[in-house]
Amino acid sequence: MRILISNDDGYFAPGILALAAVAAEFGEVTVVAPERDRSGASNSLTLDRPLAVRTAESGHLYVNGTPTDCVHIAITGLIAHRPDLVLSGINDGANMGDDTLYSGTVAAAMEGYLLGVPAIAFSLAQKGHVHLDTAARVARDLLARFVRNPIPGRVLLNVNVPGVAAEQLRGMRVTRLGQRHFAESVVKATSPRGDTIYWIGPAGGAKEAGPGTDFHAVENGWASVTPLRVDLTGEQQIDSVTRWLADAT
Ligand code: MN
Repeated sequence: MRILISNDDGYFAPGILALAAVAAEFGEVTVVAPERDRSGASNSLTLDRPLAVRTAESGHLYVNGTPTDCVHIAITGLIAHRPDLVLSGINDGANMGDDTLYSGTVAAAMEGYLLGVPAIAFSLAQKGHVHLDTAARVARDLLARFVRNPIPGRVLLNVNVPGVAAEQLRGMRVTRLGQRHFAESVVKATSPRGDTIYWIGPAGGAKEAGPGTDFHAVENGWASVTPLRVDLTGEQQIDSVTRWLADAT
């Protein structure tokens, strides 16, 4: 099995090194990741300049672009063989609920999915890599299952692992995305040169976090596995917008 790995924290991040080590137990691994932290890059592609690919001492490739750039160029011409699986992560911090829209970790996996390759995004909910081994164990478990019995159809899984010791993990739960409150306010400050500057505030807390959601699973010590799709159509509003258009004349 050929496995392509990327992330949004950068090619040097502990999470991607842990994920690459696990993946190497299952097949031939190629790492193509951003040269610096691109968390929050979402699905952006770099279209206004060329991209350079360099090789780290580890043999991993790094790119002066986004997570989506990395997976896109890897699959569409950089690497010789089409991967059988794209993995992203292990992210330093949760990607649950609305985070999935902003996440570069999820975006890297999503790019694989959009290009027809099964893909899994991994995030460790607690920042700081303290329980990276727990997330690595979840990745190993999922990869073993995937090798033994691939999920039929197109696959994009978003996995979030709670920051607990491996023996404390209760197992895996299939979940749906919850929702967050609005992001906290922008943080205004003054730069050393006297200019007013703004930091985007942190993500809001969990709002829709009841049983069945990713937030609920992780809060209760389970690894959350959410199958994602990429169709933003508001199905429930097709009828009401149709009627609205008909009446608007
Ligand atoms: Mn990140």
